[in-house]
Amino acid sequence: MPELPEVQTTVNDLNRKIKGLTITGIWTDWPKYLKKGFEKEVTGRKIEKIWRIGKNIIFDLSGGKIMLIHQKMTGHLLIGHWQIKNNQPISTEKGLLAEKVNDYIHAIFWLSDRPSFAKATEGKMMGFSDLRKFGKILVTDKRDFDNLKGLKDIGPDPLTPKFGFNEFKRLISKKRGPIKKILMDQDVVSGIGNIYSDEILFVAKIHPLKKAEKLGDKELRAIFEAAKKILKKAIKLRGTSASDYRDTAGRAGRYTEVRLVYQREGEKCPNKCGGVIKRLKINGRSAHFCSHCQKL
Ligand SMILES: [Zn+2]
Repeated sequence: MPELPEVQTTVNDLNRKIKGLTITGIWTDWPKYLKKGFEKEVTGRKIEKIWRIGKNIIFDLSGGKIMLIHQKMTGHLLIGHWQIKNNQPISTEKGLLAEKVNDYIHAIFWLSDRPSFAKATEGKMMGFSDLRKFGKILVTDKRDFDNLKGLKDIGPDPLTPKFGFNEFKRLISKKRGPIKKILMDQDVVSGIGNIYSDEILFVAKIHPLKKAEKLGDKELRAIFEAAKKILKKAIKLRGTSASDYRDTAGRAGRYTEVRLVYQREGEKCPNKCGGVIKRLKINGRSAHFCSHCQKL
């Protein structure tokens, strides 16, 4: 699933590529994405700004509406051109957008700098490639936005400057259980998932099964610092594409190449401690770690 660095990369791309354009129409072959009346609510509205809350991509639309897209497991947003033939979108561009991983387009937003054009098919398009079709798309009035289910209780963003160590400590101390699970809990801090919890705990030298309630100040601070460092580095490298995630041009993120432990089971520990990266399951998710460097 795309995490904070991947979602931030997408948001940066979208602001650069489609901010100021108007949604002129929508196509989908997966009606479950869109509630009744969705198309009518967003069509004709200008995209004023794109930002994010945790892993949710938020589109501020003109006239007091907000559109939210959550990419879930395999979703990613692409900016390109497609033609619909027999209800199948075909990329009219060669290269990355035509690659298999980017070819599960199940929704398209037509965009135009000329709002009067109905479905201006010559304009830019935002395609939603979503192999598993778990993605979420919804629209709401701005005044109802803060009460949206799933957003109301979301934890602070680990990269906001005002998010300090004391707040981090306070949030963690409310929880019990393996620290990896707590780090991935979106109600504690937002945006961290399976990839970056592994990376953060490796840098902090904390075993993923270590109980959150057993962590001292020094250990908590190591996790807090590692989170900021790793997430910033991953944004710089435009995210991780160990699975389906691609940026809006269909390009893979380069953190994949420098990742320390995530999906590196059996490889040598990057600390050169002589150990080998191991994998174990925590709540059905894989944790990758070095048992020499990361103490329980
Ligand atoms: Zn090691």
